[in-house]
Amino acid sequence: MKKKPPTSNPQHPTSNVSRPTLVSGIQPSGRLHLGNYLGALKNFVDLQNSDKYDCYFFIADLHSLTESASGRINPKEKSKQILGLTADFIAAGLDPLASALAIAERGRVWGSLGLIVAAHTSLGCGPLHLAGTPEQQQRYLVPMASGRVIGGYGLTESGAGSDAGGTRTTARHEDGPDGGTWVIDGSKRFITNAGQAGTYIVTARTGDKDDGSAEISAFILPADTPGFSVGRLEDKLGLHASATGELLLDGCRVPAANLLGAKGEGFRTFLKVLDGGRISIGALAVGLAQAALDAAVPYAQTREQFGRPIGSFQGVAFMIADMATEIEAARSLVWKAAWLKDKGRDFGLAAAEAKLFASEVSSRATNAAIQVHGGYGYVTDYPVERYFRDAKLTEIGEGTSQIQRLVIARRILGLRIV
Ligand SMILES: Cc1cc2nc3c(=O)[nH]c(=O)nc-3n(C[C@H](O)[C@H](O)[C@H](O)COP(=O)(O)OP(=O)(O)OC[C@H]3O[C@@H](n4cnc5c(N)ncnc54)[C@H](O)[C@@H]3O)c2cc1C
Repeated sequence: MKKKPPTSNPQHPTSNVSRPTLVSGIQPSGRLHLGNYLGALKNFVDLQNSDKYDCYFFIADLHSLTESASGRINPKEKSKQILGLTADFIAAGLDPLASALAIAERGRVWGSLGLIVAAHTSLGCGPLHLAGTPEQQQRYLVPMASGRVIGGYGLTESGAGSDAGGTRTTARHEDGPDGGTWVIDGSKRFITNAGQAGTYIVTARTGDKDDGSAEISAFILPADTPGFSVGRLEDKLGLHASATGELLLDGCRVPAANLLGAKGEGFRTFLKVLDGGRISIGALAVGLAQAALDAAVPYAQTREQFGRPIGSFQGVAFMIADMATEIEAARSLVWKAAWLKDKGRDFGLAAAEAKLFASEVSSRATNAAIQVHGGYGYVTDYPVERYFRDAKLTEIGEGTSQIQRLVIARRILGLRIV
């Protein structure tokens, strides 16, 4: 178990610096829907290998988040809220800016929670919101959007990562009453919320197109489907409280009603879902970068060497200046992409640009925060090493930085860049 940062230590003057208030007046959309994820997510607190310090941090800060941002929680209701007994609506793609703000603020406190929520909303709820029939939405999206069921999205396979079209998982149709059954065989790798989700959206080959490429469709897969199991759970560099694992599909039979969107439309749907998911990962990156800055500033102001605060040395001060500037630029790009999505405008390019920039800023900022802390940043007494480990994922998940550059360059140049 990690150590809690020292509460008083004269060698470490940052120990008395109070944590910055969350949600610093941010409500640009004017309609921030703060989903209360606690009810569903407190299982993660119990089950995952998060440490108590993180849990307390999370609960305390989420408490302040719900209290200050909603402005409508009275003290009597507070404990109910904290226990997660209310099922507030989450922003399952309906208000992308609110969703991005909520993920960024969670990432600022606890990256794992930010990723859990990002995967749940963008990847779990997103496809149902985008392509689900009213019946599918009622049956699967409503429980997910109310926080009662966690969602997951199985696209990646061991042989199909950046090349997600290389899916090997298959779905075979069998005739029968009510449109028959789909039988799904294969496996998925690196799936967030694996083992925690109650509903997964998975992609599978349902045939070949005329040009020989795979026809890919999407399916709703309840976790209690016979033949479904969770394989290995990954040991990761960071984001330890977020489950990442393998989905094993061994003759999983789902009714025809669980085909999500039209047959063969799964690839197109997931491209759209990934566009939205990039906003979420960009928001997570912004939150983690902001956490790094939040930690670095008071440390630089109060840690003394050579008889003066280290922040008064240009070498340190300019790191802080670069962090602050880049984070602000990243935030603007992410918010802009979310705003475009909110307005129903084309946001694919903006989302790729935002995710690319914000994730690389996040890695630089979290790295710089360790540098500002010196040796204390490299050890686990301070949270900055966690921010650094967590931030790296944002350059990989939902399309690596290289893939974002491909997407952006193709859009701008109009050429088939490989
Ligand atoms: C913690 C975590 C959570 C995840 N959650 C999910 C999830 O919920 N659902 C899901 O479906 N997936 C998930 N993923 C998978 C993630 O989306 C993939 O890891 C990612 O898309 C990269 O695929 P890959 O790992 O197979 O790497 P590869 O595709 O093998 O890439 C390896 C390297 O080659 C580069 N590369 C590949 N192709 C090109 C190209 N054409 N041009 C230039 N460079 C290229 C990549 O940028 C990278 O640097 C998760 C991964 C992690 C680590």
